[in-house]
Amino acid sequence: MAQLAQAGDRYSRQILFRGIGQEGQQKLAAARVAIIGCGATGSALAGLLARAGIGTLRIIDRDYVEPSNLQRQSLFDEQDAAESLPKAIAAARKLAAFNSQIVVEPKVEDLIPANIEALLEGIDLILDGTDNFETRYLINDYAVDRFLPWIYSAAVGSYAVTLNVLPGQTACLACLFPDSPRGIVETCETSGILNSAVNLVASVAATEALKLLVSAPASTPETQSHERSLAELKRCAAQNHLRTTLLSFDVWSNEHAEISADRRRPGCRACQERDFIHLAGEGRPHITLCGRNSVQIHERQRPIDFAEMDRRLQPHGVVRHNDFVLKFWHDPYEMTLFPDGRAIIKGTTDTAAARSLYAKYVGS
Ligand SMILES: [Zn+2]
Repeated sequence: MAQLAQAGDRYSRQILFRGIGQEGQQKLAAARVAIIGCGATGSALAGLLARAGIGTLRIIDRDYVEPSNLQRQSLFDEQDAAESLPKAIAAARKLAAFNSQIVVEPKVEDLIPANIEALLEGIDLILDGTDNFETRYLINDYAVDRFLPWIYSAAVGSYAVTLNVLPGQTACLACLFPDSPRGIVETCETSGILNSAVNLVASVAATEALKLLVSAPASTPETQSHERSLAELKRCAAQNHLRTTLLSFDVWSNEHAEISADRRRPGCRACQERDFIHLAGEGRPHITLCGRNSVQIHERQRPIDFAEMDRRLQPHGVVRHNDFVLKFWHDPYEMTLFPDGRAIIKGTTDTAAARSLYAKYVGS
């Protein structure tokens, strides 16, 4: 009873808002939302939705906290960066500190075709906190295949853009962008980023998420949302003012635009032809550049015993580890190893050099 009273008080200002109400708050408590990527946008989304009382938040992120993240990644602090904590773990700790009544499930993993099924199991809504089109196309394929709603969000420089994808109803990401952008793509590494652009796009996306979740029919274990019918999705969208445009704005120039996205594009590979090439994941490289002068290696799962690896690497450089990551400095490289054998090697964009470093010290 005491806990119920406390819960009522915690959300009282949100329940007063007529778009949410008591019934809406209960739906939020029953909702299961995945946030893929917990950098700047993911942090802001997770913070807003945890405070709003989303019952289960699954935070999926492959990276660890660094000092250059602190300007905009609002869930992390200097201690997280000093310990190189995985972002999913650091995020879960922060969220639990201000809302212990919700379930936060941190997943320190790179979302790939081989694990997407397991990582998104039982989820009602997917939110995009990633920084790359490869992962977004994978999310789009999965969501369209399962008729699961997802919200695309991106920010770079002072520019932010977001789109609600309601499979079966609105355009999907591949309707609007059939291929990845070609040529030089602006990234936070090349163009910088304003934290206010991030928070704006996260606020818009989080609000769309709330609208979608409060209008969802009450779910039971037998009627999980990915089996939710098309008609129900349509009804939800119509009832709750869900946006059906690609919305973009520039917080510096104040320019903004909306492009209609309420119709599916005839011939769209994903939502019309249902050809899910990104979900099939054929020919996907196991070694990828991941910004910031870094290479990620995720060739196969190989559980790593950090204590033993620490001893083995001692003669070759500086080694440090905690429960979540092992760091190895071997000039000019900095290798961060995760318990499943995945590695991020900083100090190079040469995949061959990164692979040989990994093979030499971790094993081929
Ligand atoms: Zn489409």
